Formats: sequence, C-alpha cells, structure tokens
Amino acid sequence: MDILPDETPLFRYIEGIMREEAEKYGYGEIRTPTFENTELFVRGVGDTTDVVQKEMYTFADRDENRSISLRPEGTASVARAIIENGKCSDPMPLKYYYIISCFRHEKPQAGRSREFFQFGTEMFGSESPAADATAIALAASVLSRLGLRSVKLHLNSIGCRECRPRYREALVKHFEGERSCLCDTCRDRLAKNPLRLLDCKVEACHSIAVRAPKTVDHLCESCSSKFDMLCRSLDAMGIDYVIDPAIVRGLDYYTGAVFEFIAEGIGAQSTVCGGGRYDGLVKSLGGPELSGIGFGMGITRLILAMREAGTDKVEVVKPELYIASLGERAAVEALAISERLRRAGHTVECDIVGRSLKAQMKYANKIGARYTLIIGDSEIDAGRAQMRNMETGEQSEVELLSFTL
Ligand code: ATP
Ligand code: MG
Repeated sequence: MDILPDETPLFRYIEGIMREEAEKYGYGEIRTPTFENTELFVRGVGDTTDVVQKEMYTFADRDENRSISLRPEGTASVARAIIENGKCSDPMPLKYYYIISCFRHEKPQAGRSREFFQFGTEMFGSESPAADATAIALAASVLSRLGLRSVKLHLNSIGCRECRPRYREALVKHFEGERSCLCDTCRDRLAKNPLRLLDCKVEACHSIAVRAPKTVDHLCESCSSKFDMLCRSLDAMGIDYVIDPAIVRGLDYYTGAVFEFIAEGIGAQSTVCGGGRYDGLVKSLGGPELSGIGFGMGITRLILAMREAGTDKVEVVKPELYIASLGERAAVEALAISERLRRAGHTVECDIVGRSLKAQMKYANKIGARYTLIIGDSEIDAGRAQMRNMETGEQSEVELLSFTL
C-alpha cells in the first residue's frame, strides 16, 4: 500500500498516540519478521479459519522445501518470539505492542485492503480479568484520544476448554436442525469448528446464527465469575460496553473474554479493533502453559472513523523560510544560508530547480513558506536582503551572514 507525504502526518499522529498510550500502560515495543514459517500461522491462527484457509499469502522458499507466509496478523509471531527468546520464565506479565503491516488476500473495498496496518498489543502471564480490563482500557484510551467517541465496545465471553464442549454440543444441535440452509463452508465447519459458523458473513447462515444458543449462557463457574469481574472492573474504570453474544472473533486461539470496538457510520467494515483472551496459544506453539490477552486495531479503519468524526485533520509541517535566488552566485549563497539555518534547527528550502524569480515565488506560496528571502548579486555584495512575512506582507532587512528565524 502506498502512503504519500500528504497522508503520512496523519498516520504518524495516530501511531504516536498508540505508542504513548501503550507505554503508559507499561507495554514495550516488539518487532518481529514480516514473514514466518507457514506452520506457525497454521498452528497459531488455526487451520479452520478463513485467514489461514483463504487469505494467507504463502510461498515456497528458495531452499529446504520450506513454505513461508506473509504475516496475516501479529499475535502468533509474538507468541513464537517470547518462546524463542526465553521470555516465558521472566516475571509476569509480559506486555508487548507493535505497529505492523499485515497481509491478507481479501476482496479490497473501503476499510479492507490486502496490506493493512495494525496496532497490536499482547499481554502474557495473567489469567486475571484485571489483565483483560487493562488491555481493553488501553484500546479505549487510544480511541478516545483519537476523538472517536461514538465507537462502542462490544463484549462477550466464549468460554474455556471446560465449558466449550457443552456449548459446542448445543451449537451443533442448533445448526444441524437447519443444515440444508447453510453454505458449503459452514456445513464443513459444523464438524470441524462449529463456533466459526457464528462468524459467517453469508446472509442465510447469519440469520440462523442470530438465533443460536449464546456462549454466555453456557459458561462454567470460573468463566462466569471472571466475566462478571471484568464487567465490574470496566464499570469501575468508567468504560462503557454492551454485552454482545455475536462477538466470537475470527481466529481459533481465543478463549474467555472477546471484544470488538465498532464504529458507526463507516460502512460494512466497522470493526476498528478486535481482541480477546488466548490462553491456549503459547502452549500450542511449544511453549509452557501461559495465558494471554491482546487486541489488533486496524489503522486504515481508524482513519475512516476519524474522517466521519471530523478528527482527522493534523498539521503538516511547512517551511519556515524559502530563499529565492537570481543567478548562479546567489544560488550557491542560498544553499549556504539554508544549510546554516537548518543546522540551527529550522525548516528551510531554496530554489534547486533553476526557476525564474516569478516561478520561485509562486512555488514558495504553494508550499506555504512562512517567510521568503530574495537574493541576487546586489544583496550578496551588500550582505543584506529583505525578508518578507508571507502572511502579513511585512518586510524586514536581515544580515545574510548572521540572521536567524
Ligand atoms: P473482519 O471481521 O473485519 O475481517 P478480522 O476479525 O478478520 O476482521 P482481526 O484479525 O481481528 O480482523 O484484525 C484486527 C483488526 O485489523 C480488525 O478489527 C480490523 O480493524 C483490521 N483489519 C483486519 N483485516 C483487515 C483488512 N483486510 N484491511 C484493513 N483492516 C483490516
Ligand atoms: Mg477478516
């Protein structure tokens, strides 16, 4: 994806807030490779998920008959990294964040592209709902600082290994009754991973899914009391939410609390952030039993939501001074003055194209220079020139060798 200089200031502004907030909550930045062994995502994301089955960019490597994939998400890589780097025996919790591009072979549309940017966080080593509440609070505070007050938090619990089988049974019973109306993929999912049916975007399946039994009605005692404590913690922290049984998340590794932040008014791709608890992931990748909670926030979708909310205007840095020059001697002098001022910390441009004076002034206007200075042979001989404030039209004389801004 191309992001040109007229858009990068907005990306940098958003990313700056993400870094600041993550660090306030004690998360440190982690960087992992853009591609990994395909096996990592098959195991870590789940081989019955859309992401792995349909969306992953997978290639044969040049050697070793190895299959590699561009990362479709960030969590599996971070889990691998903590195992490989021996972090699992460090004091808990481990808290990491990242701002990365991810790759999924999907149908491009507003809010959905094949390369997209994501802010993600992962916390390992706490099973307490206090950890869930902290991760959610971090996501909420980023959204709030970006001015997205109409983004709603939807919360659910999909249970653990204890309660999942009972729920699974109820779910299979529900969908079996309407098997003939399901899409081919869902019929296949019914045997392999029935939870996935709740997430299907096909209208017929969706209408059966909304009537399906709810996970929150099938939680074991431990999941139920954890979910209750999470809700109480969010209440105490002043974070609004709705309990939404339709939130099940698209990836296989989730257990317990799951959530999405959904923006109104940005079209069909309205989930700006999705996350949850993934207590089985680290173990399934060959590490110790270590619980986890994290989320991913799509930066392009945030921008759509910010546009809708009118909070997407950020200031673009404009030059403080543009030096126009007449003739070769002045062109060299303009370079020297520019360099002297830049070394003193100022934003300065001068003519490096060889334009006519008129064209130079037009250009200075276009780039929004605050001041302009025009120099020719006579100004250099006198050691002085007129500096013009482009907004007020005021002129003042400056000493070429020593003036500052
Ligand atoms: P969706 O249901 O919208 O496909 P997902 O469940 O596949 O989302 P996650 O894997 O949870 O998405 O990714 C986290 C976030 O990354 C999403 O909430 C969304 O904001 C963003 N995201 C996911 N896929 C894309 C994409 N193809 N283009 C842009 N942003 C995306
Ligand atoms: Mg998706």
